[in-house]
Amino acid sequence: MQHKFYPKIVLLPVVLAALLATACQRTGTSDHSSGSVSRTGFFFDTVVSLTVNGTDDDSVLDECFTLMENYEAMLSRTRENSDVWKINHSSGKPVTVSDETASLLSLAMKYSELSDGAFDITIAPYVELWDFKENPGTVPSEADLAEAGSHVGISSLRLDGNTVTLDDPEAAVDLGAIAKGYIADRVKEFLTSQGVESALINLGGNVLTIGNRSSSSPWNIGIRDPLGDSDDIITSIRISGKSVVTSGTYERYFEKDGVRYHHILDPKTGLPVQNGLESVTILSNSSAEGDALSTSCFVLGLEKGMELVESLDGTEALFITDEQELCCSDGFPKE
Ligand code: ADP
Ligand code: MG
Repeated sequence: MQHKFYPKIVLLPVVLAALLATACQRTGTSDHSSGSVSRTGFFFDTVVSLTVNGTDDDSVLDECFTLMENYEAMLSRTRENSDVWKINHSSGKPVTVSDETASLLSLAMKYSELSDGAFDITIAPYVELWDFKENPGTVPSEADLAEAGSHVGISSLRLDGNTVTLDDPEAAVDLGAIAKGYIADRVKEFLTSQGVESALINLGGNVLTIGNRSSSSPWNIGIRDPLGDSDDIITSIRISGKSVVTSGTYERYFEKDGVRYHHILDPKTGLPVQNGLESVTILSNSSAEGDALSTSCFVLGLEKGMELVESLDGTEALFITDEQELCCSDGFPKE
């Protein structure tokens, strides 16, 4: 295994307009330029944007947005009657879920095993305690963390076909670290089935591409400087047809007494992971796997995370430290 350390400089900013979504509304705003349609909206508590090249007909975007809405209704922890909501309110009884939910749970369980528990979707009791969305700014007490932690652990989750059982009635699941990637894959699948040959799907930093941007150039994806402003790009990569997913401390956090309390939590303690990393970017074919891996590698840290990535075929990673060092796996594309 070999790590490459880049000098501590901020590289020339490369701005990818599609990544810098400005509009932010539920129904979405459409934009037409010749031979291309795009739309920005708000799902899964995050900005999503789609660009489809080679068409002026944005009905394909309507269908993508409906698809995303349906998946949010199925997979959200907080939407009443979603599959996840039903699992979390089952009081220990078996629940029947959709094929999609079952396959996503199965994938999440695989990553729990691969990451030796660093990735754990039964993290929900901790997530509820921190409540970054509704009530940021309060650090939970040790007693509250210990109580929540007594209900965290993937061993309480059982999946048998489409039947899900959470043995501990107080346990709960949260698919926040994998659902956006999974949904991006489904949107890509749909667009491909419609004959689309060039598209950019961006679900809150989960970027998935179809083909090239144009006949002469691949997609150029900016990777955010995790310690900079939202439009500061630290490096960029050129890809076609691949997924680029980043987990970073900047996505959801509050600062108190000089400490950045962010939303990627250590399942062993319930505390935000503090291991010198600020972000992990995964380049892969599947966005669901990239999403699961970016969170897994963040929690595992530079050394173990890099080891995991190097053991997987077709997957590359870029780790960015709090010293703004860029450390990448052997096959990560250079700028
Ligand atoms: P983002 O949602 O910003 O793209 P991630 O993919 O890393 O970032 O997901 C972080 C979210 O996943 C958190 O908001 C929380 O809901 C959940 N989560 C936090 N820590 C873990 C963990 N160790 N394993 C699985 N899910 C986690
Ligand atoms: Mg993730």
